[in-house]
Amino acid sequence: MQSAILQLSYLIGSVTFIMGLKMLSHPDTARKGNLIAAAGMIIAIFATIFLYEHAGERLHNYGWIFAALAIGTIVGTMAAKKVQMTAMPEMVSLFNGMGGACAMLISLVEYNKPEVKETGTMLVIALGMMIGTVSFAGSVIAWGKLNGRIKDRTIPGGQMINFLIFAGLIALVILVVGAFFPASPGLFYGILALAALYGVLFVMPIGGADMPVVISLLNSFTGVAAAFGGFLYNNPVMLTGGILVGSAGTILTILMCKAMNRSLKNVLIGSFGGQKAGVAGEAKEQGNFKEISLNDTAVLMAYAQKVMIIPGYGLAVAQAQHACHELEKVLEEKGVEVSYGIHPVAGRMPGHMNVLLAEADVPYEKLLEMEDANDQMGTTNVVLILGANDVVNPAAKEDPSSPIFGMPILEVEKAEHVIVNKRSMKPGYAGIENELFFRPKTSMLFGDAKKVLQSLVSELKQL
Ligand code: NDP
Repeated sequence: MQSAILQLSYLIGSVTFIMGLKMLSHPDTARKGNLIAAAGMIIAIFATIFLYEHAGERLHNYGWIFAALAIGTIVGTMAAKKVQMTAMPEMVSLFNGMGGACAMLISLVEYNKPEVKETGTMLVIALGMMIGTVSFAGSVIAWGKLNGRIKDRTIPGGQMINFLIFAGLIALVILVVGAFFPASPGLFYGILALAALYGVLFVMPIGGADMPVVISLLNSFTGVAAAFGGFLYNNPVMLTGGILVGSAGTILTILMCKAMNRSLKNVLIGSFGGQKAGVAGEAKEQGNFKEISLNDTAVLMAYAQKVMIIPGYGLAVAQAQHACHELEKVLEEKGVEVSYGIHPVAGRMPGHMNVLLAEADVPYEKLLEMEDANDQMGTTNVVLILGANDVVNPAAKEDPSSPIFGMPILEVEKAEHVIVNKRSMKPGYAGIENELFFRPKTSMLFGDAKKVLQSLVSELKQL
């Protein structure tokens, strides 16, 4: 009976994970989906704590278990409540690293149990250790790089070194799983050391716009490592959870590579961040840019038929989403059709702009994906770019020497007028100059996005 209830809780857990994941794919249902999956996870955890039996014995060290649960819950809740939207990728990366560390610790504990292990079990332990450790070390480095504590670093011959370490890791796994076990624990700890080194060296040179791809890849690694734990404990909900994270991470990795028109291999060995230095301040060489006043912008927009807003990272920094929604409403009252062009890598995390605009209750139907936005660009009178830069950079289409060459962009120059709001002529995330700002159709509207939008709204109301 007890075991039937346990299995039923695992089934409920697995089903809620799948439902939650499905619901996460739409902003209207995402919040609920997250809660449903979390509820399923709580059921699975408590069922395991109170009902799981191994060799006729229940779990007993409740003090440790509940202390860890309490600490984890408090730290996790506080971190999630406090985090700025723009620092979300960092947090995701760190939490993902914790998942990898868990898989690593599970392998350590299981390896040190005295019972004799079958080859299959040993393989799962060794692979869980390898993948979990790579994910942990890599995620911590990614976290450090995203918050600026660790700089991009390319080591000469780095690719070769990484390849050799990887080959060494595979050799160690074979040795541990095969004939040398259990005589040489040193070999097993060798996997731990090499995997940690590999995680660090593999993420170290990757920079710029490639970071989210790497984080998503590491996320899928953690999923796979957790699934190994599921095998080890014969625990179906851990297996389902791990496989879901593994496959969702893999799909997201592929989608992001497509959005940037890069192959995964190119992302991993391309060293995107390398060209960052010394590009700011070259503005003068590009020619002149023209500025537009708030009043002229208001007039231009008020008499337009179609306006498209292109949000970017700067809108999130300025926390100007509410002011942006306000502008949209004022324009619509004047009979202007307003839509938003959303680039898949705008901002600093997948779906960043969608989440940001949803916060301000911008209707989801107004958000156009990049391809639809580009289709509508030709009939748009005014494009208002709010704190976006790389995602509208024509170099991605025109300059084969540019590090973002090949990335699809929002083709704003197809519209009649282009107005760019940002605070200065400084480059965006990729650290490269944007010629759009110097093109004849473009006018610069300098200032903090929130202040500019608030002033625009009051100008428009007076018209
Ligand atoms: P960018 O980072 O290219 O540009 C943002 C611009 O916003 C800057 O040029 C900055 O200019 C401006 N800005 C900053 N603060 C403000 C403010 N308060 N008010 C007005 N403007 C402001 O952003 P994009 O969204 O165009 O592109 C995203 C970039 O980030 C891409 O390179 C992408 O690949 C990368 N990336 C994306 C991730 C994702 O998953 N979405 C994750 C990690 C990286 P100024 O300083 O002059 O104001």
